[in-house]
Amino acid sequence: MNEFELIEYYFRPLSIAREDVTLGIGDDAAVLSVPANHELVVSTDTLVSGVHFLPHWDAYDIAYKAVMATISDIAAMGAEPSWLLLALTLPDNNPAWLKRFSQGLSEASAPYRISLIGGDTTRGPLAMTLTIHGFVPKGEAISRSGAKAGDRIFVSGALGGAAQAVAWLDSAGIPQPDREAVMEKLLHPKPRFDFLPILRSFATAAIDISDGLGADLHHICQGSKVGATLTRQAIPIHPIVNQYQGVTAVDMALAGGDDYELCFTVAEKCLPEFRQHCLEMGLTCSEIGVIDKTPGLRMKHTSGDVTPLQVAGYQHFG
Ligand code: ADP
Ligand code: MG
Repeated sequence: MNEFELIEYYFRPLSIAREDVTLGIGDDAAVLSVPANHELVVSTDTLVSGVHFLPHWDAYDIAYKAVMATISDIAAMGAEPSWLLLALTLPDNNPAWLKRFSQGLSEASAPYRISLIGGDTTRGPLAMTLTIHGFVPKGEAISRSGAKAGDRIFVSGALGGAAQAVAWLDSAGIPQPDREAVMEKLLHPKPRFDFLPILRSFATAAIDISDGLGADLHHICQGSKVGATLTRQAIPIHPIVNQYQGVTAVDMALAGGDDYELCFTVAEKCLPEFRQHCLEMGLTCSEIGVIDKTPGLRMKHTSGDVTPLQVAGYQHFG
């Protein structure tokens, strides 16, 4: 198969029909239209073999995780995903790998009606860049810059599971059900689109947790020119992390990336209505702290002591 046959066979089927796609894969460029009264939200992510995934992983998982990580940024903006571009660099033309890869891509995108509208295919060390597009009603995108002193900080789900899976990649003797529970978090994360209506109605700022709660909350604080104080015992920790990490579990929950849960802020005066909406929608989230005027991150301990919090998280050039 040459490059063009490969695109036709593996990727063209993922160019699903959408009203807003006039022209998808196969021409020099895609032709698209943004629905009336909406804004286009765009984000790109590069995944490099050996950095973001391991080359021996099932290609299905590599593709699946890549899509989920990418669309999580769209969820954090309060937007809905629509179109995907894929720039793929492959060391060779391996049909078995490409089949699994395109399956993972398809099964991750189909539930969201995401259409693969184009990309680029090149030969080289295994890496991929996914560019995701989405729509948000005009003026309703949620940025990192809207948090105000007094806002409460919330986080969806439980944290640290993906980091535990990474920590166990080279470990033997871990009970299989425990390893599988956290590998599922690492390989098949679920972006929190269930929070979309809640975010749009109540969030003053939002971010998805890709680098670790501490690092990502730090982004909100910098973007909003505020600080934050977290309550140590309120931080939701994945049960496996609690079980294996003991007293340091909270550190893994704070520094561990790849969970793709949401961290967002809600104004104090909106809290009763916000809680009511969560209840009605069957959504649970944890109130983990408060935004304050003083810059920097702090941790409030069970004793009542407040200490500065070092921002730890993954940094490529750290
Ligand atoms: P050109 O040489 O004109 O840039 P390409 O050969 O790169 O065209 O791509 C041909 C078509 O296939 C384009 O529509 C492009 O968007 C699409 N395409 C190429 N690689 C991929 C890929 N990995 N996934 C999806 N679409 C792709
Ligand atoms: Mg090209």
